[in-house]
This record gives sequence, structure tokens and C-alpha cells, in this order.
Amino acid sequence: MKTPAINQAMEILRSLRKISESNKDISTKLNEVVKMIVEQMEADAGACYLVVDDNYLEIFAAYGFKENIAHKISLRFGDGLVGDIAQNTRSLSVANAWHHPLFSYKPELGEDNYKSFVGVPLIRWGKSIGVITVQTKEEREFSRSEIDVLETIAMVLSETVSSEEMNEYKKHLIKLRGQTNKEKVKGISLSKGYGLGNAVVHRRRQSVTKIFAEDKEKEIKKLDIAYTKMNHDLDEKFNSTKLGIGEHVDILDAYRMFAKDKGWYKKIADNVQSGLTAEAAVERAYEDMWNRLSGTQDSYLKERLHDLRDVADRLLGYLSGDKEDKAKFESKDIIVVAQTMGPADLMDYDYTKIRGLIIEDGTPTMHVAIVAKALGIPVVAKIKGIYGDIKTGELLAIDGNEGYVYIRPIPSVLEKIKGKIAEREKLATKLAELKKLPSRTKDGVRINMYLNVGLAFDLDYIETTNCDGIGLYRTEIPFMASDVMPDVDRQLGYYKELMDRAGDKKVVFRSLDVGSDKLLPYWSNSGEDNPAIGWRSIRITLDRRAILRKQMRAFLRAAAGKELNVMFPMISNLSEFEDAKETLMIELEKERRRGHKTPKKVNIGLMIEVPSVVFQLDAILPKADFISVGTNDLAQFMFACDRGNPRLTERYDVLSAPFLKIMEQVCTQALNAGVFCSVCGEMAGNPIEAMALIGLGFRNLSMSGSSFGRVKSMVRSLNVEDVEDYIKNLLKSNRRTLRPQLISYAYDHGIEIY
Ligand code: PEP
Ligand code: MG
Repeated sequence: MKTPAINQAMEILRSLRKISESNKDISTKLNEVVKMIVEQMEADAGACYLVVDDNYLEIFAAYGFKENIAHKISLRFGDGLVGDIAQNTRSLSVANAWHHPLFSYKPELGEDNYKSFVGVPLIRWGKSIGVITVQTKEEREFSRSEIDVLETIAMVLSETVSSEEMNEYKKHLIKLRGQTNKEKVKGISLSKGYGLGNAVVHRRRQSVTKIFAEDKEKEIKKLDIAYTKMNHDLDEKFNSTKLGIGEHVDILDAYRMFAKDKGWYKKIADNVQSGLTAEAAVERAYEDMWNRLSGTQDSYLKERLHDLRDVADRLLGYLSGDKEDKAKFESKDIIVVAQTMGPADLMDYDYTKIRGLIIEDGTPTMHVAIVAKALGIPVVAKIKGIYGDIKTGELLAIDGNEGYVYIRPIPSVLEKIKGKIAEREKLATKLAELKKLPSRTKDGVRINMYLNVGLAFDLDYIETTNCDGIGLYRTEIPFMASDVMPDVDRQLGYYKELMDRAGDKKVVFRSLDVGSDKLLPYWSNSGEDNPAIGWRSIRITLDRRAILRKQMRAFLRAAAGKELNVMFPMISNLSEFEDAKETLMIELEKERRRGHKTPKKVNIGLMIEVPSVVFQLDAILPKADFISVGTNDLAQFMFACDRGNPRLTERYDVLSAPFLKIMEQVCTQALNAGVFCSVCGEMAGNPIEAMALIGLGFRNLSMSGSSFGRVKSMVRSLNVEDVEDYIKNLLKSNRRTLRPQLISYAYDHGIEIY
């Protein structure tokens, strides 16, 4: 290999441009590029791997390996040297690849004679989109300037492989393999997680064919047996399912009461007495109810109508003997596919075997999704036509994180999903081990780790993580899962449950943060042009003061005799904070006058989410007991970038000087004012971002339970003094993103950021 020099880099780039501008097809061009790089660098072999599916690399062009190897090798991010480069977006060079602990031998490649290895990532918007490698037979170290040359080429190549032509080529490849769009379908995610299993198509009711009864007595007896058996089975199923506590249990209880309703049974029995078969009598009873209630605007009653339909279908199943046939298909891993489903239907299956749920219709607040989530089952919904397309027994893979379903997945997808499942299991084991260990850095700095909770099942994390407390309770989530605006008593039930589960641990309640993307089913959308910067959050609750007052009352009662921490979201200036604070103080006074037991201490804080408030911290901090930075919204407003727009997700990075500087300012001012300060946005739960926050001075992080293990691992492998120095210097950089630098830093210092 020549000693690399600027001239050499220029020469390669010239050749690269020449190839890129030729009229050849993209695949030929890529092969020519790889060959040219290998020759120019006087190496023996080289390859270009590109991402075809999320976190999955495939060899697209090669030189010096076995013939026609393109598209025959694929590997996961993190798999082998190439996978490691993609995963960590950093170059890697080794004198003898065979001796590297990450080396993974791929006999089909034909690399037996090659020793030295250098690989660099192709990066776009901070994310790996491929890897380019060069290898030699001779065992040797690559110099820094050689790696620089390859990195420069990678920069230019990243543009080429992101072209429209390349995207078309990838689509063409996917089609050729039979992985048509129909077999990878997109829906919406209602519950996260990954699953693999055989489809079980959930059958809906059969239509009623026999209307008039020949023998009334026989029909009544049949109805009685079916009704009794249905209720007995429901009781048994509910009691044997580990449901814990929470709103999913309320949903199922309401359903069970419905099924046992004597008035409903009497109506059916009367219909039989009038001459109908038991089946027709059930349908008639439903139709009567539907006729009376379908015109209502009341969403609570509408939801009851859904429940009634489900219970009626269930009873019809028992009457026709259909229930006994359910889940006949034997497999230890099943994925249930339904057109729509009632919450109890899930329990017709052995829930310990359910690896996923796919619902053709469906909304985030649908009851079955809440129950599935509580049971840890991934759910993908809103996929038109899927119910008719899938047959029982077919192999399915579900990606509940991104909302994808794969029908008869190809080997690479299978491997990817299996990898994700294994990763989650490994993490769960690691989390269990980490639970006992303190959240302390290598140089002895204590990092307090809190939980973000919303759904009832999040509460389990209080025990499984051994957290320091609840840093953010998103109270809007039970509001969103409910059919009607919960009254004070209902809210008190939610909050009290949390306080009880938390025991002596600190709990921070956030006042209702609705609007924008968080819509309440019983509250019509106000149809604003820019809801994210519209009437939302504290702006709504200050304008609809009764809602805020009721919530404050429920908070005060839930924390009676204990410490209460209340935080107001989306505060834009001091007067808004004072206004909200006063509402709480008035309610506190009213509770005292009513003779109710009050909390022994009330702390009032605010979220830092709107940039304007950062410039008023000097006035606000003396009035606040604590603050918490909501980085999700703060970043949205700092970069003027809709947090929910997938086109913009990778455009701006919180790991960049402007954002890190504002975070540093908030932290320093709070520390100087002696005000408790935490971060509760997603940044706190992402290991590399949490590392940066610690480097800026934050010591209190609040995150979802699923992020706990990874962040704790990072904390325990970190040296705070070092990272503080590093970040201080890094803030001088004006790069779009500092993520690669921070990842390299973590990598070089043995900090665990997986
Ligand atoms: C945030 O904005 O960072 C935050 C924690 O609040 P939410 O994500 O609920 O808007
Ligand atoms: Mg927010």
C-alpha cells in the first residue's frame, strides 16, 4: 500500500467522480468503485456493505473475494468487525483480523488469505448506512492517513449510495426476492416489542342462520348452559391470568360485569319466549341496544356498545360450540391476527404463548391493546386487508417498535427479529443483575436514576429496577386510556396506587399534559393548524381551571401525610408558573379548611420545555422547588422541528453544541440557585446522550423502565471527571452532530453504550 497523501485522496476522488458520472447501472458502478479503491490503495480485496433493512447490512459489491458474492452475505449491526463499525459509526483497523475478539468468520466470503483489515462507516444524518472495507494478505497496521483517505472516500460514497437510483435498486432487489411490499406491511404500533410465531386467525362470529325456535324449552336450556359456561370460563381465565393491577384490570372487570348482567340475560330469554332461537335472541337483544344507543355522541356509551358486541359474539360462540374449537392450532409461539377484538378475547388463547397481536382495525386506546400491553405482548394495528390475507399456521414476525408485520419472513428478517428478541432477553437478565448494584460512576459519583411512568404496567418497574423514585408521572396517560374524563375519585385511585407502589420513594406528578399529539377520546380535536405550538398542556388547564383544580385536589389527597411533588409542563414564562402554583396553593388551603389530611410537604416545580423560560431562569428558580428538563419538547422548539415528523427525525441532533449549551446553562443555573434539577425527556434514557448530560453536570436522570439497565451500565463504566473535560472541549465544535465523537469517546474509554 502506498503512503497515503492528499494527492492520493484527490486521485481516488477524481476516479470516484468519473465512475459516478458514467452511464452504467448502479451495481456496476459500485463494483468499479470498490475495485478502484482496492487498486489505488494497493490492497488485495475490498467490499461495500449497505443497509437494506433497519440495522441489517448486505454485501453489495466486492473485489478480491469469491466470485459473484454480492447480495449473498448479510449481517446484523454488531455482528463481526463490519457489524461493529456500522453499530458504532466508527472506523476500525486491525493488523490481523483473525486475532480480533469481534472477528466473525464467513466461509462463503473467501477471506481465508487476508489478514489486515480496515473498515469505515458510510454515514448519513449521523446514522450508518453502510460500511466500506479494504483488506491485505500481508499482516500490517494501517496508518492514520490511510484511514483518513478511506474516510474521505466514504463521505463522498455516502452521497452516491443515498441516491434515488440506489433506492430504486434496493426496492428492485427486495421485489426479486419475493419480499414484496405485501409481505412487509406497515401498521401502527400499539405495544412495543418483537415476536415470532405461527399465525392464529381469530375468528369472528358466524352469522345466525336459524331464526325461529321449534322447541322453546330446549332453546332456553341451551341458552342457560351457554351463558353459565361462558361466565364460568371468563372467571377462570381472568383469575388464572397474571394481570397485576391497573386500568387494564378495570377494563376486564367491567367486561365481566357486562357478561353477567341479569338485565341483558332476561332480554335474551324474553326473545326466546317470543319464538326465536337462542342465537337469534342474542342478536335481537344486541340490535335493540344498538338501535337505542348508536346515535349517541357519548363516547362512553359507544365504547359500551363495543363491549356488548364482544360479549354477544362470545355467547354466540358458546351457543354454536365454536368456542371449544378456538386455538386448536398447536404451536408454542403464536401470533394472533384479528379483524377486531374484545379485551377478553385475548384470553381465549394461552397468553404465555402469544408473541404478538395484529389487529386490522384498532386505535391506540382500544381496550384489547391496553390489556396486551400489560401482558407484554407487542401489538401492531391498522393494516388494511391483513385479516383476509393471513392463514392460520403461517409464519409471522412482528416488530412492535416500528409497527411492521412480516408475513413468511425471509431468513435475514427472521434472523433480525430473533436477534432483537435475544437482545431484549439478554437485557432483561442484565437488568436483573444490575438491580442490586448502585448507580455510581467509576470515580464514585452518584447518579440518581428515576422512572418515567404512565401506564399501570410501568409500575412494575418500580420493583424490577430498584429506582430512586418516579421522576415523571405522565398523568395524561390514564386520561387517554379512559372513556370519560376521570373525576376526582377516579384520579385519586390512579394516584394513590402509584403512591402506594412507590412506598417511601419520591414521586413527581405532572399536571395534565394533553393537546398536540396527545388527544383525549372524549375531547374533540380543536383543529388547530399548529397544534404542537397551540392550545395544549398548561395552556389548556389554566384556561379550563376546573380541570386543573380537580387534578390538584386528587394529587393532594393521594399524597395526604406524605411528600407531594407537582410539576407543571410547557411553562413559557414566570407568570404562567405563578398562576399554576397559586391554583395548587388555593386547593391546598381548601383541603385544610375541609378538614382533610394534607401532604406533610408540597414541592412545586416546572418543566423546562419552552426555550423562553431558559432566559427567565434567574427569576423563576427562586420560586421553584425543582425543575425537570423535557428534552423532547425543548429540542422540538429549539430546532423548530416537529418531534413527530419522521422526515425530520435525523436532521437535527440533541448531541450538538447549540442544544448541549442550553442544557449546560439550565444545569449550571439550577445548581447555583440550589434548585433540584433533573432531565426527564428521552435523552436521559439513551446511554450516549445520558453520558453527555452527566458530562454537562446533570446528576438526576428520569427515564422509561426499559432504558434503565442500559443507562445504569453506562453510568457504572463512566469516569465523570474525564467526560466533563471532554465535553467542555467538544462544545467548541460547530459540527451538525457530535454523536460520532461521543461514541468514539465512549468506545475508547470502555464506556458501555450498547
Ligand atoms: C418532554 O417533552 O421531554 C417530556 C418529557 O414530556 P412529553 O414527552 O410527555 O411531552
Ligand atoms: Mg413534553
